[in-house]
Amino acid sequence: MTGWSDVPCVFIVAPACPHCGALRPATMRSVSNGDGSITRLSTCRTCLQRFKVVVEPPEPTADPKFGGSRKGNE
Ligand SMILES: [Zn+2]
Repeated sequence: MTGWSDVPCVFIVAPACPHCGALRPATMRSVSNGDGSITRLSTCRTCLQRFKVVVEPPEPTADPKFGGSRKGNE
């Protein structure tokens, strides 16, 4: 177990139900939107309401290289 102390972190926000705020919705299906984003058709496990979770791709302005940072923005 070495090397995990110096790797970069990627922070994501867990999807919450827009109706009751519960976490961990059940994903019924994932649909690619063709632009790099993915729409997850989800059902809340708590209130059983349906909603969509759209997962956006990384911003194109970000340096795709490992450990990179944006130009002129230090
Ligand atoms: Zn809910």
